Amino acid sequence: MTTQNPLLDTDALPDFAAIRPAQINPAIDQLLAGYRDAVAKVCDPATPHDFAHVIAPLEDWSDRLSGAFSPASHLHGVADSPELREAYNAAIEKLTEHATELGQNRELYAAVKAVAESDEFKSLDAAQRTLVEDRLRDFKLSGVALEEQARSRFKAIQTELSKLQTGFEEAVLDATEAWTRPVSEAELAGLPEQARRMLRQSAKAADKDGWLASLKPPVVQAILTYADNRDLRAEVYRAYNTRASDQGPNAGQFDNGPRIDEIMALRHESATLLGFANAAELSLADKMAGTPERVIGFLEDLAAKAKPVAERELGELRAFARDELGLDDLQPWDVAWASEKRRQKLFDFSEEDVKPYFPLQAALDGLFAVAERIFGVTLRQRDGVSVWHDDVRYLDVVDADGGVLAGVYIDLYARNGKRGGAWMDVCRNRRDAEGRLPVAYVTCNFPPPGDDEPSLLSHDEVLTLFHEFGHGLHHMLTEVTWPSVCGISGVEWDAVELPSQFMENFGWERAALDLFAKHWQSGELLPQPLFDKMQAARHFHAGLFLVRQLEFALFDFRLHRDFDPARGASTQETLDAVRQQVAVIRPPDWHRFPQAFTHIFAGGYAAGYFSYLWAEVLSADAFAAFEEAGIFDADTGHRFREQILAVGGSRPALESFVAFRGREPEPEALLRSYGLAA
Ligand SMILES: [Zn+2]
Repeated sequence: MTTQNPLLDTDALPDFAAIRPAQINPAIDQLLAGYRDAVAKVCDPATPHDFAHVIAPLEDWSDRLSGAFSPASHLHGVADSPELREAYNAAIEKLTEHATELGQNRELYAAVKAVAESDEFKSLDAAQRTLVEDRLRDFKLSGVALEEQARSRFKAIQTELSKLQTGFEEAVLDATEAWTRPVSEAELAGLPEQARRMLRQSAKAADKDGWLASLKPPVVQAILTYADNRDLRAEVYRAYNTRASDQGPNAGQFDNGPRIDEIMALRHESATLLGFANAAELSLADKMAGTPERVIGFLEDLAAKAKPVAERELGELRAFARDELGLDDLQPWDVAWASEKRRQKLFDFSEEDVKPYFPLQAALDGLFAVAERIFGVTLRQRDGVSVWHDDVRYLDVVDADGGVLAGVYIDLYARNGKRGGAWMDVCRNRRDAEGRLPVAYVTCNFPPPGDDEPSLLSHDEVLTLFHEFGHGLHHMLTEVTWPSVCGISGVEWDAVELPSQFMENFGWERAALDLFAKHWQSGELLPQPLFDKMQAARHFHAGLFLVRQLEFALFDFRLHRDFDPARGASTQETLDAVRQQVAVIRPPDWHRFPQAFTHIFAGGYAAGYFSYLWAEVLSADAFAAFEEAGIFDADTGHRFREQILAVGGSRPALESFVAFRGREPEPEALLRSYGLAA
């Protein structure tokens, strides 16, 4: 059995052609049994509590388990079938149960703690110390380190919170579905064909004739952006922005207001049980930003710079609306519509004008050429590797000295049975002892070639390709051999997008584009006037965009940081104060966006919404080092590879950033990339 199940050979590349759904659960069962035995041995009082007997076996088994499951879960994503899905779901259930069991194991926690407190700890190398500290931190955050009463209370809170968060999300869904409005033919004016089709489909789904507006985000976006009828826009705006609240057309029916109060109170209580002053401090325990003061300072600093620009942009938009659209009193439900009219007037180009300059193969070659110039690695196709579809290619990553460092599967075309979107995933971790190289998957959903035309990418798709490959490089160029802290693993989640967003910058550089952006028929370079328009469109209303993001981020963070059990959540008060500080467009009093802010009340972004902007600052500032030295500067590239990519999660991201940049991150480069620099 062992020798026949291809999933159990986690040192070689997976034999995709030989993998069958029926092999998945036997492999997982066998590995979980071995893992459980290993954990029992670690917890045995006779086992020495040192790195080699506690941490190393945990790393080995989790690597074996993820190595066996990775090809199965990858196939589920890229070549799904009913049998595969069934086997995958059964395996996921077992893996989740196992992870919970590990996280709640008090004896295991005691063993890890003993390693952290041993004399040996100081003699471990940096990656090993981080590994121990991360494991200890995760145990603490799971509540398992608490003593009785506190531990039971913590568990009860988590159960209650998960119910409330699910309830929050369901209320938003129900409120979204509860409202529709018939749209007459005359009211369709301004809407593009695709939007009309959506409204038509909504009507059909409701067994009605004609057109129906709903609160589904693409419909709302289309109406607010394109509908010339102002009453229609105003009604949709009001219904959408009062969802699940005490206001608007369905006031009180799905109100999330009381849920927000309960969620905030329980989050605060569970944070204090774990020894944090509030839920914001708890959120920062596994993030790079470190302290609440730094987060607030960072956001307020950006706000001070972005707000004047946003005010100027809004002034220009008001003038445009007055002079060209006959609107004297621009209202919140006019902003997207007027902006679109202005955008069309200022930069008249479409995606279709750009695509002929980005044939997929050329974009890929350009990406590899950039990687070669800055990181000194070449990508070389290797034939004869077992894959899951004819379109898939396997490439070796070859270092300057000719040695093979890593491998990557690239699977770029959309097709049936493949999940949408683009992502990078881990196939194999680097393990020097076994002579195993790191291997990644880079998966996209680009249009396949036509009969007489290659696959042509939009500029956004080119950036997506660079982005995902950036994640891939983080994994492939690792020099750490502990799976939990190599590549993207163990990197603070407000820093993990650094290499990916960093790579996107090259897609905006003329010198990089000149390596590959050539018309697929004529070979002509991307014309400068078109590139200028692309740049201008990129910066269009960037100030307005930024202050909106800052409003969300500051609201989220302050709400969690300032919670006072005696006063409750003070949601509206906090929001009003934040708007006073950063917003330039003041929504009406009945506006209730927190009641549908699922990111922070139902998802994982509690006191973490700022991470989007934080990661952008890091990547823009890192790229600025290349702008200063020359965008293909090999020394700077070498430093980036050595100080950021190679070390992965084996040390704090801030340390890595400082080692690369020579100082802490600064926001100027981000502001420049938004076109907001002074
Ligand atoms: Zn990403």
